[in-house]
Amino acid sequence: MIPASDNCPLCSGQAVADYHRDQRRAYLQCSACQLVFVPQRFHLADDLEKAEYDLHENDPQDLGYRSFLNRLAQPLLEKLQPDSAGLDFGSGPGPCLSLILEEQGHSVALYDLYYANHPELLESQYDFITATEVVEHLARPLFELNRLWGMLRPGGHLAIMTKLVASPDKFTHWHYKSDPTHISFFSVATFAYLGRRLGSAPQFIGADVIIFQK
Ligand SMILES: [Zn+2]
Repeated sequence: MIPASDNCPLCSGQAVADYHRDQRRAYLQCSACQLVFVPQRFHLADDLEKAEYDLHENDPQDLGYRSFLNRLAQPLLEKLQPDSAGLDFGSGPGPCLSLILEEQGHSVALYDLYYANHPELLESQYDFITATEVVEHLARPLFELNRLWGMLRPGGHLAIMTKLVASPDKFTHWHYKSDPTHISFFSVATFAYLGRRLGSAPQFIGADVIIFQK
């Protein structure tokens, strides 16, 4: 379950400080892992969260969306062996990344809590796992990321796309926090912390792609 009170949902740290506050929510920052997070009392109920996701359906034929996903797909494809087997975790209402990877000969299983809820897929092992625009939605990021890491074969890749927290000043005007389903905001320092937990240094690619190799 989610840690009691306002403990950090990534490292369980209790040293958290106010980071920002807007009309709707408070944002705290953990001094140990630097995660910026929205306390649980401000999280949306599941039905409201799904209604919000339904508003954001992406069209696989949309070239802009494909180009957005290629920021993760291209560097990942350069690392994969032929015919790799992967999982797209949090594939959403309109799978698109999986199509890009399948066009290059890989197979991709789809898991999504709301749109492809096949828990048996989380019992398998994969050569790669993708999570695009997912970690910012996680109420229990350490639990989920540890679970994904456990599903990777040795040498496998975990490829994440999320916008990174830069500074308190930029956070004030950051559109990313306006989405009410965004509750966990990672920074370079937070991914470095996660890398120490996983025993793998993160590779940062561009502004918002992070790849870990097991
Ligand atoms: Zn923390």
